Amino acid sequence: MSNYNSAAIEEFKGGVWVFCEQRQGKMMPTSFELISEGRKLADELGEKLYGLLLGHEIEGIAKELGGYGADGVYVCDHPLLANYTTDGYTKVICDVIQEYKPEVMLIGATNIGRDLGPRCAARLHTGLCADCTHLDIDVPKYKDFLRSASTLAPAMIDSIPEDDRNLKMTRPAFGGHLMATIICPRFRPAMATVRPGVMKKNAFDQAKADACEIIKPNFSLTEDDMETQVVEVVKAAKKLVDLIGADVVVSVGRGISKDVEGGIKLAEELAEVLGGVVGGSRATIDSGWLSADHQVGQTGKTVHPKIYVALGISGAIQHKAGMQDSECIIAVNKNDTAPIFEIADYGICGDLFKVTPMLIEAIKAA
Ligand code: FAD
Repeated sequence: MSNYNSAAIEEFKGGVWVFCEQRQGKMMPTSFELISEGRKLADELGEKLYGLLLGHEIEGIAKELGGYGADGVYVCDHPLLANYTTDGYTKVICDVIQEYKPEVMLIGATNIGRDLGPRCAARLHTGLCADCTHLDIDVPKYKDFLRSASTLAPAMIDSIPEDDRNLKMTRPAFGGHLMATIICPRFRPAMATVRPGVMKKNAFDQAKADACEIIKPNFSLTEDDMETQVVEVVKAAKKLVDLIGADVVVSVGRGISKDVEGGIKLAEELAEVLGGVVGGSRATIDSGWLSADHQVGQTGKTVHPKIYVALGISGAIQHKAGMQDSECIIAVNKNDTAPIFEIADYGICGDLFKVTPMLIEAIKAA
């Protein structure tokens, strides 16, 4: 039996959905990335693609999602949804999903998405794969695998249709040492949270935005449903570094340890002449040299800038996971066997404190 109380999986091919996160009426970039990725998946499945937008007085921003590929947007507008709360959002999302029965539900692995996704999945009695870095559609070749490796009853495995297609969700596992590919064969929607900055955004198309359908689903939400209340929204005092949107990222690693202040200053100068921002390996964040919003990597941000400069970074697998898709990687390291050189387009073997000033001067002179 499915968790949708429907007789068979085929009955609830309800499209690919993307939870579109907005804050104070401004769409988060991850919403556009996931709509773009969702378009690809929906086309492969022969399904429609819908955004799911919650908030208050947010209808005006909904059609923009069409410009990146959404066929329509379910808009849930309510004063109690003006600020994010786990209980309010979960209630509405689960109600709407139960009614419209999407096949796939994607959520950005932002702070909100990481809170919301598992809660909704548990309430809908379905599976969720967290922090995905790659999504695909698979025609099943997994029944034999399920027979040999799972505890599902044979009758249940036999009942999976041969042509049932599943969302293949890939995510780093075991500290980034291997990539795990996961499917959710029986339950719907197949849910995934997806790392911000990983999926590429489509070019915006105004005609598609104009054609995007706005749907206002029925849902109920009252004060009784709300166990939490937002008393105040306090904005971050300091502007956080925008690593994900940057065209150039200059990152520093533990290689700056002999003169931390000097090393960061050099990175800032290089970032300035290149028109970029400063990032760092986890070693620099753990040492308290840079704040956490600068961290690139598996447990930090995933970036794919036009230019990524790694100064004194060894290139551990967890760091590479967050930057290896950059268009051009330039690495400076005094150890010529450092793994970062394996993925660098340009490698400079030398002391960053000598090489970086030369790079800055050369760029200024060019
Ligand atoms: P090191 O590995 O110590 O490398 C320093 C490099 O600097 C060396 O290659 C050295 O040759 C070079 N060097 C030293 N002096 C100079 C100099 N003067 N000039 C030029 N080169 C010099 N790491 C991340 O970065 N991001 C993550 O998100 C992340 N997540 C993780 C998640 C898990 C579960 C785990 C277990 C680890 C994670 N890590 C992450 C840590 C990761 O494994 C590495 O420990 C970390 O990336 C190392 O940082 P580093 O390259 O700055 O330091």
